[in-house]
Amino acid sequence: MLIRVSLTLWVLCGTLATFPMIYAQQALPYDYPRPVDTRTKQIQKQEKKTWALGAIQVTNQFDGARLNGFSQKNDSTYIVQIVPENKPINSSPWYAFKIWSAIPQTVWLEFQYKEAKHRYFPKVSMDGHFWELLDSSRIIQNDTVQALLHLTLTPDTLWVAAQEIVTSAQVHAWCRQLALSPDVKYGVVGKSMLGREIPMLEISQDSVADKEAILLLSRQHPPEVTGFMALQAFLDALLAPTPLATAFRKKYRILVFPLMNPDGVDLGHWRHNAGGVDLNRDWAYYNQPETRQVANFVVQAVKKDHNQVILGLDFHSTWQDVYYTCQEVNPQIPGFKDYWLQGIAASIPGYTPREEPSEIAQPVSKSWFLTQFGAEGVTFEIGDDTPRDFIAKKGHTAAIEMMQLLVLRR
Ligand SMILES: [Zn+2]
Repeated sequence: MLIRVSLTLWVLCGTLATFPMIYAQQALPYDYPRPVDTRTKQIQKQEKKTWALGAIQVTNQFDGARLNGFSQKNDSTYIVQIVPENKPINSSPWYAFKIWSAIPQTVWLEFQYKEAKHRYFPKVSMDGHFWELLDSSRIIQNDTVQALLHLTLTPDTLWVAAQEIVTSAQVHAWCRQLALSPDVKYGVVGKSMLGREIPMLEISQDSVADKEAILLLSRQHPPEVTGFMALQAFLDALLAPTPLATAFRKKYRILVFPLMNPDGVDLGHWRHNAGGVDLNRDWAYYNQPETRQVANFVVQAVKKDHNQVILGLDFHSTWQDVYYTCQEVNPQIPGFKDYWLQGIAASIPGYTPREEPSEIAQPVSKSWFLTQFGAEGVTFEIGDDTPRDFIAKKGHTAAIEMMQLLVLRR
């Protein structure tokens, strides 16, 4: 009841378009209190190869793979070496490889990371599409080993990875599927440093002119697949043939950038792009081609069609579910995030969204939405180990609650 009353007040008090923004042709630079040097740095290239040790073969020769060394320690134990693209870097060691044995056998794989802690619970697959968690009895972690996996190998290829592998080709295929809807346009905003396409989805019904706009981002950080899964569920709700979603698509223009870092994704990077930079620190001067092209594309598109950007959500993954929000008062949709999080809580019994507000500090996308457009910005973080069905439920619910608030708004 409290939520409904508050929502009504908010809808009545909504201050639509009372914050005139001057849009430039290029994204404007912004001096953040805690600047980050995002000029291109050298990365260490992963040597692509297939190792053959006796009957066992293991390979990193596929998109999304990361395996930097494979050697035998004793009769039944093999060392898996994983190193990052460059340093310093967050401790998020991504790994992904295929392994098989001409003679069926059970082996131990000892993971060794350079200056990082094991983070991702292993996922296994027989085809690279359907994944399951490795049985917990098959992994050992203690003071002497970072991760020791007990695997049964056969002549059939076994995929082992930090998270479900979702390559740039798979993201493009998914975009093409979504674009079968008449309310979705699928395009490319530019190319990454190594020439991979940066996809964009535009969701809207009828003309996009003079509508308010919402921005959605994902995969700035390659291993953060669970955030991408939440985005997928979020878009499923936006594209549903329901009266709510239809009204929402009629009223708003949604620009989606689901794969901000295609090089990092396909090269199996821990965090950075091919320029060795954390893209989610590059929203001040746009030194990297991925952030620069997306930022300029958005600025030009909304200028051309007279759109006011009111909200940006950037989907990520971290240790546990959290919403990183901006402490600054949002001038266009004041109170939105509080009602939104209350709505999500009310719709998922037993779940309390964890919010961590902060002031503008580093050049991250969440703050860019505010500094560039005066828009509300939220980093939508999903836990690495959040059950996949719950990710789908959260992504879906977050979209429904957002649409209810924004469709009702004056
Ligand atoms: Zn992230």
